Amino acid sequence: MINENKIFDVVIYGNGLSAKSALVALIKQEYKILWINNINKEENDDRTTMLSPVSVDFYQKLNLNNLRSIVFPTKKILIKTKNQKNFTTFEDKKFQKTLCFLAENKFLHKELNIIISNQKKKKNFLELNEDIDKLNSNKNYNEIILKSGKKIHTSLIIGVDGANSLIRDLSNIKSKDKGIKKYGLVGLIEHDQTHPFTSWQVFSENGILALLAKENITKTRSVSSMIWSLDKNQMECLFNLDKDDFEKKIKNEIGLNLGKLSLISKISKWPIKRIDVSNPIGLRSVVLGDAAHAIYPLAGQGFNLAIGDVSELVKTLNWARNHGLDLGSSVVLNKYENKRKVWVNSITKLTDGLDWFFTNTSVQTQNILGTTLNFVDNFDSIKRKLLETMVNN
Ligand SMILES: Cc1cc2nc3c(=O)[nH]c(=O)nc-3n(C[C@H](O)[C@H](O)[C@H](O)COP(=O)(O)OP(=O)(O)OC[C@H]3O[C@@H](n4cnc5c(N)ncnc54)[C@H](O)[C@@H]3O)c2cc1C
Repeated sequence: MINENKIFDVVIYGNGLSAKSALVALIKQEYKILWINNINKEENDDRTTMLSPVSVDFYQKLNLNNLRSIVFPTKKILIKTKNQKNFTTFEDKKFQKTLCFLAENKFLHKELNIIISNQKKKKNFLELNEDIDKLNSNKNYNEIILKSGKKIHTSLIIGVDGANSLIRDLSNIKSKDKGIKKYGLVGLIEHDQTHPFTSWQVFSENGILALLAKENITKTRSVSSMIWSLDKNQMECLFNLDKDDFEKKIKNEIGLNLGKLSLISKISKWPIKRIDVSNPIGLRSVVLGDAAHAIYPLAGQGFNLAIGDVSELVKTLNWARNHGLDLGSSVVLNKYENKRKVWVNSITKLTDGLDWFFTNTSVQTQNILGTTLNFVDNFDSIKRKLLETMVNN
């Protein structure tokens, strides 16, 4: 039962992985929270996500009990352009550190749902399955008007409602929608020959194909998660192939002998939206995750950025609370924005740059990347620096 006179510290709106992660992280800090969500789509999310070690660490601190059993480590990443002979290998030769972890989105949802339902008994956390109609923000508080006519008051509203964010629109946070230019084909493949803890990525004029290490079922059989980023025409051609032909395309593109390779799941297609938000804060509002930056998934960074948003916001809100500051005030939200903008911009530019390179340049020009990768391959110090960046972000 909602008390309309109560002022919540925070209202969280959204139902994806970022919203649930923000929710669990803020509940742990004992804020008075209302979670508004009215859509339940996660059952259909058959994607996998590459989590950075920092993101896994974030979840470990939130006590996701079964985390270790739902993430699969990658210790070696092999990258090449289609016309390069050999892959360039990234690995921590000395300590064999894990570079990233693969998780199936549906299991991440499940783990987060368990924590959320355990928290429902707490009196400082409420869930409401309704839609938001209007947002009246002023200097002192936000008034959220629900479709039912009910009114909610909060210091801060956090929009974690994806690329088409309603909260972003209601808060007049400016965004540049670049539309859907790419699609991701995703599925699971099984291959004969095991390369334990190894993931591959091939860049070519046929798109960007990644095979990401999942489990080693036996000593001779492995499962990898496939994500192939393509433009619409390329995606339609591949999507309409029968199973045998699709498997041949993967083999040909990866150019490796993975033994007998077979698709073991259905292939699904995911549109990839590109949205830029130059400043994710409004009057008493902030957007996180894809609501704040929808980027190309070719470097597996979109969701890791969302975890970075959540961590930074929790830190900033704790700082505000310790200093007796109003959580939704501009001084607090500006501090958050300043902390995030450089990293979010860098990752957005990096992923846009790679995408542009493979969409707009000739095969000859693309070979330059191959030459660069070959060059990097010969310099352990450069590779070490790149590895540190991977592991620490
Ligand atoms: C094919 C593909 C592969 C990817 N692989 C990776 C990867 O390996 N690593 C990585 O870091 N990132 C990856 N990404 C990016 C990552 O999936 C996204 O960044 C992440 O899902 C964003 O989560 P989100 O919760 O912010 O947004 P979303 O997943 O879009 O979730 C927002 C949710 O809010 C919901 N919502 C909207 N309105 C309401 C409402 N009224 N009430 C309740 N809920 C509402 C939406 O329905 C949606 O469920 C990939 C993306 C794609 C497309």
